[in-house]
Amino acid sequence: MEDNQDKPHAIMVPCPFQGHIIPFIHLAIKLASKGYIITFINTEKIHHQITNSSPDHDPKTTQDDIFTEARKSGLEIHYATISDGFPLGFDRSLNDDQFLHGLAHVFSAHVDDLFGKIVNKDSRISCLIADTFFGWPSMIAKKYNLVNVSFWTQPALVFTLYYHMDLLKINGHYDCHDNREDAIDYIPGVEGIKPKDLPSYLQASNTTTIVHGMIHKSVFEDVKKADFVICNAVEELEPKTISALQEKQPFYPIGPTFALNGFTMNTVATSLWSESDCTHWLQAKPHGSVLYVSFGSLACCSREEVAEIAHGLLLSEVSFIWVLRPGIMDSYDNDFLPVGFEDEIKDRGLVVPWSCQISVISHPTVGGFLTHCGWNSVLESIWFNVPMLCYPVFADQITNRKFVVDDWKIGFNLCDRKPISRDEIAEKINRLMSGKSANDLRKNMGQIKEKVEHSISSVGSSEKNFNQFIGDLKVRIS
Ligand code: UDP
Repeated sequence: MEDNQDKPHAIMVPCPFQGHIIPFIHLAIKLASKGYIITFINTEKIHHQITNSSPDHDPKTTQDDIFTEARKSGLEIHYATISDGFPLGFDRSLNDDQFLHGLAHVFSAHVDDLFGKIVNKDSRISCLIADTFFGWPSMIAKKYNLVNVSFWTQPALVFTLYYHMDLLKINGHYDCHDNREDAIDYIPGVEGIKPKDLPSYLQASNTTTIVHGMIHKSVFEDVKKADFVICNAVEELEPKTISALQEKQPFYPIGPTFALNGFTMNTVATSLWSESDCTHWLQAKPHGSVLYVSFGSLACCSREEVAEIAHGLLLSEVSFIWVLRPGIMDSYDNDFLPVGFEDEIKDRGLVVPWSCQISVISHPTVGGFLTHCGWNSVLESIWFNVPMLCYPVFADQITNRKFVVDDWKIGFNLCDRKPISRDEIAEKINRLMSGKSANDLRKNMGQIKEKVEHSISSVGSSEKNFNQFIGDLKVRIS
């Protein structure tokens, strides 16, 4: 048996967003199952939100720890929380400059402080696994003499576009949304991508926001100093992009991370909002008949968009589950749904604030997903063979849409022009849920799913890359 003294110890720090925390937790469990000691760090706000949303939450318990159950099965995962510099009640929105400024410029001081305490207490800590979106990992890794592993939770294509931001600028494709249509064909490993498919932060007309500064500091500058980059991507889906990146830096695609532990992870609470039970409602519906609608944890819609989607759902006559997250609209009030909406949908629709998405889309009665194209949602949809209607809002979602609709042909665009219209929404929903074109999507989906499934088999790329990463890390640590 390996002595505890010899076990490698890694500290993991995800960005405080739902779509980042989930893959980090999957990775933590996998590494712990391979003999790593893990210290997992969440912000106090995220910790508070997760524990308050958990069905097992006991308000009298002050020492809630999301890994308590995982430890009972022998995994050595410690847990710590850190201030992001704001009080718990502060409204943390991606539109709030004060919050973003704190995350970009103040958070690193809190990290430094906590690392000082943790690393000084345990000299065996050898490795930092931090979110690529942070701008401080190289500074912290150097200061505490840690191997610097960067974890990118989105596709390799999006990574390489940010990574080569300088080429986009030289060629006039940065911030050029309205006036260039020619394909970008000079980024290593990228065959050609139109400016309209770049992540929003590369094509927005105002390219000087705090988020732009963060991306420049992190994915363009700091990640180049990382010892290793791991990525929630699948080599079979992006072979050329990944092999070009591997010429630059040790780069390991290990996705989809939700499959890393064979779906045995329900001992760890991950949701930032309480999950409504949808399975009971789903059970009464015919096979493949329900449309699942969700825009993830960050995307916002206008009141008009939400109302138009509601009308489109009504007109489609399709059964649906709609996740209307608190805060999805900039101004949230109670009368944004069409008059009589709830009476009219009766048992045909279920509107919930948050769901256990994996349970919903894995349910046999779900036959389509109207999605904002968050990368986790796209991978989950592929895994459960659910074709998509795409309504990307910002960031990588724009580029992920291209994969789904143009490259893999496993989904349609919700609308071909803006503003969106209820008639087109209803028509697209019906096209997704039934008919010849829906069958074509399902056939293509089968092929993509096969590649993803193969990647995590014992001879698949993600399994191989994960083992290679562990081996290379071990050499670097010792
Ligand atoms: N999710 C969930 N319940 C919901 C909506 C989303 O559990 O009602 C999960 C979903 O399964 C995914 C994550 O939250 O794993 C969202 O990540 P994604 O990359 O799709 O979008 P983001 O929230 O980062 O925009």
